[in-house]
Amino acid sequence: MAHNLHACGVFGEDQRLLTARVFPAPPSDGRTAFERDRDRIVQSRAFRRLAGKTQVFTRLAAESDHSRNRLTHTLEVTQIARTAASALGLNADLAEALALVHDIGHPPFGHAGEQALDEALRTHGMRFDHNLHALRIVTTFEERYATFRGLNLTLAVREGIVKHSRDYSAHGHPELAEYFLDQRPPLEAQIIDLADEIAYLTADIEDGLAAGILSLDTVKDQLQLFANFYRDAQRAYPAAEPRLLSNEALKKTLNALVTDLMQQTAHQVRTHGIQTLADLRQAPNRVAQLSPPMEAKRKQAKDFLYANLYLSPTLAAEHHHAEEVVKTLFHAWTTNPDLLPPDHFARVREEGAPRAVADYIAGMTDSYIEQAWVAHKLA
Ligand code: MG
Repeated sequence: MAHNLHACGVFGEDQRLLTARVFPAPPSDGRTAFERDRDRIVQSRAFRRLAGKTQVFTRLAAESDHSRNRLTHTLEVTQIARTAASALGLNADLAEALALVHDIGHPPFGHAGEQALDEALRTHGMRFDHNLHALRIVTTFEERYATFRGLNLTLAVREGIVKHSRDYSAHGHPELAEYFLDQRPPLEAQIIDLADEIAYLTADIEDGLAAGILSLDTVKDQLQLFANFYRDAQRAYPAAEPRLLSNEALKKTLNALVTDLMQQTAHQVRTHGIQTLADLRQAPNRVAQLSPPMEAKRKQAKDFLYANLYLSPTLAAEHHHAEEVVKTLFHAWTTNPDLLPPDHFARVREEGAPRAVADYIAGMTDSYIEQAWVAHKLA
């Protein structure tokens, strides 16, 4: 089902403004501005490191060929975002670029690593925020050009990196003034957060079952979103084995969530009388949403995953390890910054040791930080 929300995305605003880059760039070579951004993101070093970063399973992931890492998760979010953007008549190239870059600022060890790094920085009066870190990666840390730093991405992509999952107060973040902080982001950026939620919700059910942390009996009895589709599959294919019925149900769950997102978002735009991106930017809330009944099921599924997967004893042991490694190395390097590699040590004078060390740790893959941990214990 197609919708035409064309004017509520970047197509609806001054293209020269939204495609403006930090530094002058040669004119288009046949690709659109956002296709060029997508290509720069895919060619970046930080993007390749996503392959070595945990999504949910850290050390367990090393034992399975099939559980997601941040790169495969990113590709799933990209597929969903591109599909939804196209069906809504939005700029699919922008949605694709934003999805590809959305997790680029994550430290190793998934959520546990991020939390540990944030807690470590708080002891110095600072915070770690993966969206703001992603912006620093694409504007400062990537080195692809002889005369400037960063990937020189368009304003719309930088705005989406900052704002796809949350709002920042203009008062609290004067350094982000150019990103229209008091306004809602274009619809292409708004759908990324839900594409992300949908991708990991369904993926974590599958990976949790495969890892043996979730049991199919519990999932099909207690997870409402999945249960109905599982029963439908049982009725349709009474002879099929449970693994296949489970895959049928997962596929239908994913499809139902994405379809609902597209329908409800189009419905919101209509009921709020939003005609242009300017209207959307001034709307009191984001309009990319799931319908209330679907949102209730999503919430129930997320609560279920917290209780049965994310906070399970198996993953708790991994989280504890992540916290110990991140905090111990952070402390060791902030106390003795001369232990840092020369290019990171060089940043201590400018940024201070806590930020320089946090940036160093945030860039690491899981296996890189594990090696650093072993070296630290041997030293
Ligand atoms: Mg994500």
